Amino acid sequence: MDQVIKALACQGRVRVYIADTKDIINDAIVIHDLWPSTASVMGKALTIGAIMGAMMKGDQALTIKINGNGPIGNVIVDANAQGEVRGYVDYPHVHVSRAGALDDVSTLGYNGYIDVIKDLKLKDLFISNVPLQTGHLARDFTYYFLKSEQTPSMTAMGILMKEDNAAEVCGGIIIQLLPNALEEDIVFLESKAKILESMSKLLKENATLEDILKLIFGSDFVILESLPLKFHCSCSKEHFESGLATLGAKELDAMITEDGQAEIICHYCHKQYLFSKEELETIRKGLKK
Ligand SMILES: [Zn+2]
Repeated sequence: MDQVIKALACQGRVRVYIADTKDIINDAIVIHDLWPSTASVMGKALTIGAIMGAMMKGDQALTIKINGNGPIGNVIVDANAQGEVRGYVDYPHVHVSRAGALDDVSTLGYNGYIDVIKDLKLKDLFISNVPLQTGHLARDFTYYFLKSEQTPSMTAMGILMKEDNAAEVCGGIIIQLLPNALEEDIVFLESKAKILESMSKLLKENATLEDILKLIFGSDFVILESLPLKFHCSCSKEHFESGLATLGAKELDAMITEDGQAEIICHYCHKQYLFSKEELETIRKGLKK
């Protein structure tokens, strides 16, 4: 079962989030018919989203939008503090490999931006935007955390695709230095950079996330919480109804007279919602008030 584990390490001076997201990416592969390269990029983006959701509280939620001007187009991920994650890409049918490995950088591109929109349930949304640095999501989010959240961190993401276009493993880790971190913690973490480089190997060779934590931190870590994760779309007919209302009278009138109905497909989960002529007329009447 997919989950993210929150832990403290280095005697409480380092915060760790480690996630297993294999089921989430496999759901996304089926829903969106992702090809291997897009699955690789989407898997890492969903993992980062899931972990950033786990950093939130209560009914807080976030949206990540990544666009590197590569063939995949926009990569969109929504996540929340309840462990619910969903996402989509503009162009799921992209496949680029180099030297036998999936090529994330050519798929995503590196000439663009990461936008993070956090709904902290305050008056305003927290919106931040950083330029993509490399097209490697783990490196680019390390930059994001430093630049946008002033948090020095180490980020590693990994996915292994099987011949049948399903993920064998998918997951990632984000390690953050807390304000009381010491120089020795930085030196220690730098010494672990090499094993973290191959997150997919770590996920494949270790049965549990806890085993990976043991491998990195020995016995110097405490698990605080484990949050189950799932691909979940919160869309509803009511949601799309209010969306239709925002189109305005002219657009709705055209739908009623020309099409006699409206079919809306959710970007995130591909669920179809059909609005009959009568339903559209009711929405149209609501606008007059
Ligand atoms: Zn949906």
